[in-house]
Amino acid sequence: MTDTSDWQHRTKLVHSGARRSQYGEVAEAVYLTQGFVYPTAEAAEQRFIELGEDEFIYARYGNPTVAAFEDRIAAIEGAEAAFATASGMAAVNGALFSMLKAGDHVVSARALFGSCLYIVETLLPRFGVEVTFVDGTDLDQWRAAVRDDTKLVFFETMSNPVLEVIDVAGVAEIAHAKGAMVVADNVFATPILMRAMERGADVVIYSATKHIDGQGRCLGGVVLGTEEFIRGTLEPYLKHTGGALSPFNAWVMLNGLTTLDLRVRAQAATAARLADWFAEKNTVTRVLYPGRADHPQHDVAASQMETGGTMLAIELADQAAAFRFLNAATVAIISNNLGDARTILTHPATTTHQRLDEETRAALGITPGTIRISAGLEDADDLIADFAQALAKA
Ligand SMILES: *Cc1c(COP(=O)(O)O)cnc(C)c1O
Repeated sequence: MTDTSDWQHRTKLVHSGARRSQYGEVAEAVYLTQGFVYPTAEAAEQRFIELGEDEFIYARYGNPTVAAFEDRIAAIEGAEAAFATASGMAAVNGALFSMLKAGDHVVSARALFGSCLYIVETLLPRFGVEVTFVDGTDLDQWRAAVRDDTKLVFFETMSNPVLEVIDVAGVAEIAHAKGAMVVADNVFATPILMRAMERGADVVIYSATKHIDGQGRCLGGVVLGTEEFIRGTLEPYLKHTGGALSPFNAWVMLNGLTTLDLRVRAQAATAARLADWFAEKNTVTRVLYPGRADHPQHDVAASQMETGGTMLAIELADQAAAFRFLNAATVAIISNNLGDARTILTHPATTTHQRLDEETRAALGITPGTIRISAGLEDADDLIADFAQALAKA
């Protein structure tokens, strides 16, 4: 493998991690195999004693195509090591459960993706882990909640769906002062727009299902951290509990990384333009976009992210207006993925956040008129024309 450590991000996204076989293929090979043949019994024994560089035993533990994906994303994140998982949730589950035991204390931001909330709020306490929830945007609440015995803090750097932005360096300083690990879900910000590890996160998690695939095909995830954490803590947990990424999905994600920088920047430019356009419409009661000066955490976003990101949220008068808008759109689609090449409209109150009661939704800033928009790769003029006619019908 070529040493790519001195290269710029876009070069790493194309080349890092690639392992060419004896055939010299241009595109990365998909090693669709669960196991590996050993030349001799002694070689098999040796491999079980100690795995050498680029040696594999079983695809639940590792696979060459999966390793290529892990090495490529570790290279752009600036992480020592990575472990790829079957989904983003397998990554969140692995990162948290591999580190925690009964009696530990966790501080978590309250505004979380539904499945992350289920793990932190329902599963961790069931195994005797105490969890304190805070408003993640308020550093004073973190300061008050993190204790000497706090094992880790957990948050999404940009939350779903109303795009609260968390001050990663600020939270990391508070957590590290008490010896707690900082675990950051950086899905919405992407490894292109924010390098959470450079800002103090110890463990960074991605759902590769989102921007990394970017074309709505495969589930996948990844946990990044130090060599010591990934090999010593996470890998033993994940390799025995079965959250491994499929080699085929790893190949899709590996190719997704090749174009990630171009896609995310183009999508973020469209998101910024849409946000400004919606902000001028008087039927739109609120626009939430971290790249706009009127966003509550705009300063934090500007200090830690290269742009405002690919996601925005708007608010219309009520649910009926929101539904009329969704149903009238012809370019954008109604779905619940994000980071996709297609612009996606989501009505959180009736779909992704349906399970929550109204009060909790209101506390998270989700009203019946809230619409989440994931900006895609279409021509922004077509999207604006489409949204103009949809707003007229709303
Ligand atoms: C989608 C998502 C996840 C979970 O990822 P899956 O690949 O769907 O399992 C976790 N965190 C955030 C912020 C997400 O948006």
